[in-house]
Order: sequence, then structure tokens, then C-alpha cells
Amino acid sequence: VRARAETFGAWVRFDDRTLVALDRAAARRLGIDGKKRWRDPAPTSIADATDRPLEVHVAVTSRCPASCEGCYLDARADGSHRSFDDLATTLDAIAERGAFTVAFGGGEPLTHPDLPRLAAHARAVGLTPVVTTSGIGLTAEKARALSSFAQVNVSYDGVGETYETVRGFDGARIAERAITTLIAAGIGVGVNVVLTRQNFATLVELVERVVSLGAREIQLLRWKPAGRAASLDYLTRRLSQEQVAALPELVRELTTRTSVRIDCALVPLLSFGNVDDLLKLAVMGCEAGRALGAVDVRGNDAPCSFLSGVSLPKYEVPEPCASCPVRAVCRSGCRVVAKHLTGDVFAPDPECPRVIEARG
Ligand code: SF4
Ligand code: SF4
Repeated sequence: VRARAETFGAWVRFDDRTLVALDRAAARRLGIDGKKRWRDPAPTSIADATDRPLEVHVAVTSRCPASCEGCYLDARADGSHRSFDDLATTLDAIAERGAFTVAFGGGEPLTHPDLPRLAAHARAVGLTPVVTTSGIGLTAEKARALSSFAQVNVSYDGVGETYETVRGFDGARIAERAITTLIAAGIGVGVNVVLTRQNFATLVELVERVVSLGAREIQLLRWKPAGRAASLDYLTRRLSQEQVAALPELVRELTTRTSVRIDCALVPLLSFGNVDDLLKLAVMGCEAGRALGAVDVRGNDAPCSFLSGVSLPKYEVPEPCASCPVRAVCRSGCRVVAKHLTGDVFAPDPECPRVIEARG
């Protein structure tokens, strides 16, 4: 068990990676002492009580042999790695700030020669390491070397030809082989799926496929206009309004087949169903620069991995978000999408159904 005192009580991470927010009484029973953080009365909600990262995304390289059309980092085959020493210093600083999880990304992290050592270093300083890969270059030997990772997520955006339609290269079989190779090496595997207009209708088939291969969960991610994806025709790839309307029911359907996680940016697209579910389940929306942090491939801090070079000071949330019942969870939606479509990083998420309705 690893714990971090907060004004409301404490965040506690159990050995199975579950992260739980406990009130002061429950935290005390676990022997946690909040000291100066508990001097004032506890806040009535945890929504605004976390201002340090729980999770940090660290780019270890800008190198990637694939050429995905929608790469948010604009990674290339001749990209460069951050050195092990620099990355170890970054991990030490992240642990020092009290984060629980470090998610390695890139570029393609498997191209970094020190990836297993980096995971071991993260463990040594108390962090839980996870990583996302396309699976390119993964061998049985490399998979066994990844045993320090709590989970490896394989990107898989479509079965068969659908994958190429989304990513611009034929990587479905590589991803499928990576899933089975990692499972054979005893490593827990999740699957990341970026939702686009092109793969939306095939998601049930996709989930059935990866479950049959042994993946233990899927994570659905919103398509974000950053890096190369910003220069593509974003409007023809993002979900249509009809697909957004069908999303809550589809997510429910997928949960009958496997564990489903959603990314921060999908929260506004699910906010017009049963909002009580979002509130009760402590779903987190845009936590850029708050509960979520990032370090880019040059070693610079960023609010999230899609917002390199952007700072997000505290700001007043505008209408219709200011009076929205899920504002505390959603936080105005995705800043990346808002910045791309409106030019204003603080604007309400223009793809949120509530924002669209409010604007008539
Ligand atoms: S109106 Fe704003 S706060 Fe409410 S769900 Fe939409 S983007 Fe989120
Ligand atoms: S800007 Fe916010 S919602 Fe968008 S990807 Fe970053 S953390 Fe997630």
C-alpha cells in the first residue's frame, strides 16, 4: 500500500494498482497522518482537492518505425531517445512529488534500449510503470524483459483492414502478435483503441477479437488533433454526432464483454447519459496540469502529453460549462480539441453535446 495525504483524506494505492480516495477517518484507520494537510476542515468534495499529479506520462523517445498518419507526437524513424540518466532523474522527481503511476510513451518506447531498466528504476522509487506500444519490434525475449511493467498496453485501432484505414499502415497482425507474445511472457495486456468515424461500427468485433487473444481490458480514447493528426482532415475522422449519441450505449455493450476504461477526453461525450454514473464512479475528465502531468521528449514538463509547450494556469470555466452538472468531473472537456477547433485553449469543448445544444 502506498499513500499520499490530501486535504480530504488520502489517495491510497493498493497492491493490485487500485487507486482509492479515502476520507480522513478511513485514512487514519490505515495509519495515515495528514499532518498540516488536515489542519483545516476537510473539503466537501474531492473534485478540486488534488493539485499534484497522480499519474505522469513520460515520452522516452521520438523514434518510431511506423508512420501512423495520426501520430500526436510527429514521431519519426530517425527520432532520438532521452538518455537513461536523464529519464532516471525525471522518474526520481515524479516520485518525489508523490505520483503513483508513470506511463511511458513515445514515439515507440520499445525502440529505447533501456526500457526494462527504466521500468525497474520506476519500481525502485515507488512508482507503478505502464507502457503503450504498437508492438513493432517485440520479440519473445524483449517481452520477457518487460516483467517490471504492471501492464503493457498495445495500440490496436481495428481488426484487419480497418487498422490501416485508421493508422495508414497495416499493423493489425503486428499488434495481435504483440498481445499474444506479451501474455505468453506472463505480462498483463490492455488494448488502446482510438475512436474514429472509420472504426466506430467495428468496435464490438474488435473487442471480441482482443478478448479472444487474452487482453484483460480495453481503453477507449478520443481522436485528438495534435502532432500529425492536427494536419489531417480532423473533421472527417472525428466521431460524427450520431456516433457520439450512440457512444454511451456502445460503452455499456462493451462492458458486457471485458473491462472498459475511457480516457479523460471522452468524458464530455458521455456526459449527457446518466451523469450520476460519472459522479459516483469518480471518473476524471480533463486533469491536465492537475492530477495528470507529462514530461515531453526534451524533458520539459507539460500539462498532458498532447499539450507540449502549453501552460494551463488556473482559469475560470466559461458557460455553458460553469453551470453544467458534471463540470467538476469534466472540467470543460478536452483542451486539445478546444484549442484546435477554436484557437482558444480555455474554450468549452466544442464537440460536447451539451455545448452544441447550448449554442443552438
Ligand atoms: S458542458 Fe462543459 S463541463 Fe459540461 S459536459 Fe460539456 S464540456 Fe463538460
Ligand atoms: S487536454 Fe485534458 S482531456 Fe485532453 S487529452 Fe489532455 S488531459 Fe485529456
